[in-house]
Amino acid sequence: RDLYGTTRRNSRGVEFGVAADRDLMLKEVWSFRADEIAAAPIVDGRHVAGDARPVVSPVDGKTRVGSVVEADAATAIRAMEAARRGFPAWSATPVETRAAALERAADLIEGNRDRYLALLAREAGKTLADGLAEVREAADFCRFYAAEARRVFRDGGTVLAGPTGEENRFRHRGRGVIVTISPWNFPLAIFLGQTAAALVAGNAVVAKPAEQTPLVAHETVRLLHAAGIPEEALHLVPGDGRVGAALVAHPAVAGIAFTGSTEVARIINRTLADKPGPIVPLIAETGGINAMIVDATALPEQVTDDVVMSAFRSAGQRCSALRLLYLQEDVAPRMLEMIEGAAREMRLGDPSDPAVDIGPVIDSEAKDRLDAHVAREKAAGRVAFEGTLPAGAYAAGTWVAPTIVRLARAEDLTQEVFGPVLHVVTWKAGDLDRVLDGIGATGYGLTLGVHSRIDATIARVCERLPTGNIYVNRNMIGAVVGVQPFGGSGLSGTGPKAGGPDYLLRFALEQAISTNT
Ligand code: NAP
Repeated sequence: RDLYGTTRRNSRGVEFGVAADRDLMLKEVWSFRADEIAAAPIVDGRHVAGDARPVVSPVDGKTRVGSVVEADAATAIRAMEAARRGFPAWSATPVETRAAALERAADLIEGNRDRYLALLAREAGKTLADGLAEVREAADFCRFYAAEARRVFRDGGTVLAGPTGEENRFRHRGRGVIVTISPWNFPLAIFLGQTAAALVAGNAVVAKPAEQTPLVAHETVRLLHAAGIPEEALHLVPGDGRVGAALVAHPAVAGIAFTGSTEVARIINRTLADKPGPIVPLIAETGGINAMIVDATALPEQVTDDVVMSAFRSAGQRCSALRLLYLQEDVAPRMLEMIEGAAREMRLGDPSDPAVDIGPVIDSEAKDRLDAHVAREKAAGRVAFEGTLPAGAYAAGTWVAPTIVRLARAEDLTQEVFGPVLHVVTWKAGDLDRVLDGIGATGYGLTLGVHSRIDATIARVCERLPTGNIYVNRNMIGAVVGVQPFGGSGLSGTGPKAGGPDYLLRFALEQAISTNT
């Protein structure tokens, strides 16, 4: 039961320790032949033909996972026009019908769990534990937004009190065509979360997934259509950033839901600002230089676990991941030794092997960027630890080992480093305000962690900064839908919380109708 009395169940997990459940899951995952997926733009339910390119797994740099026909600008425009035509009927569809379609989608996602796990491992390099968390999050988004739609939206609106002889009605309705643009790091949950929210609020959607992960997106759009989302209301345009730019520039756009880098959010914002016609709202959920503050009272074993999980799980490719660790100087040597020891234990390798902790980074561009960063830090003598890369069959995959960099000053980290690289600085007792000022000065505000057993310290950390998600004495990743609404402020985004009670309103128009009776 949530804040507003809505009841719903969150998706169930799998206990990897129970052999029967685990083995059945593995059998399905390992027998899945991804190469059968031929993704393409989907407009009005039909594939758009074109030249297909292979989608190759980052795990070994050669296994073909499937193929994709990418959209060009003309297809993007066709999809926008189709969505414009599809909007009125979907917008007039009862809220209950829209919500029920999302609930069917949640059931289908769970029913296709193992297929998704296999695809997430091969196309995006996700470990089974990460894939499972993502499948559950995707199902949770569908059920949560369905329940929220029933709570927030009312067909025909609500009659409000007013003077005698007048009827005043207030209602929500879809805005029109919403363009959703998503990143590769949650190719199912974020792709689906944005799209489901926009749809259930009564909008038609043109969805652009990341260039690296078109297959998961393609399967998901097919699944949403099968669940009852009309083909006229949801269209898919796989392709690169140029396709995204063509969608943003189209005159039919009524809103954009973007998740990705701060730089691209700025580009989109600029295009929208310069466009003639209506002022188009942008929901932007972007990156962060996420910090964790550890003081001398913190429990070392718990800190170690939480740091390693927050910084290195998913190969550090989570927007919420820990980038900058502040260790109080009296305990820093001991803590660092424990963190390095735990990082050394992490196993890199085939993500569909349940014993593996870390998969590859998404592609060679990401690897080159991360390798260059680590090389610069090495040249400056600041790399304190570097893990071991997998060899043999996987040597050609895009691997980056967990790495720990010791910085003299926190200000030396000026950009989000999107991978398994943890930066560590020390701070002196009594300097907490200066630490908090430094974190605030980055301009980002996505996640923040604190480990302390002093209530006043925790209270000060929570009060001082406008960071979207603050985690106390725990890890900083894996926000749960409806329980930890997720999203940041400042350079980290425009503020709405995915999986939160106010999210759907961002996708709706509000209308007041006053009638003289
Ligand atoms: P990205 O490079 O900004 O790309 C995000 C999406 O924007 C992709 O679909 C991309 O297409 C598209 N795009 C690129 N240029 C565009 C343009 N000019 N106009 C319209 N669309 C354009 O981000 P990413 O590398 O995929 O994802 C990693 C980033 O996402 C990190 O910064 C991470 O922190 C952030 N993130 C934030 C959250 C959150 O909830 N706050 C969650 C996850 C990730 P292509 O892929 O085809 O280029």
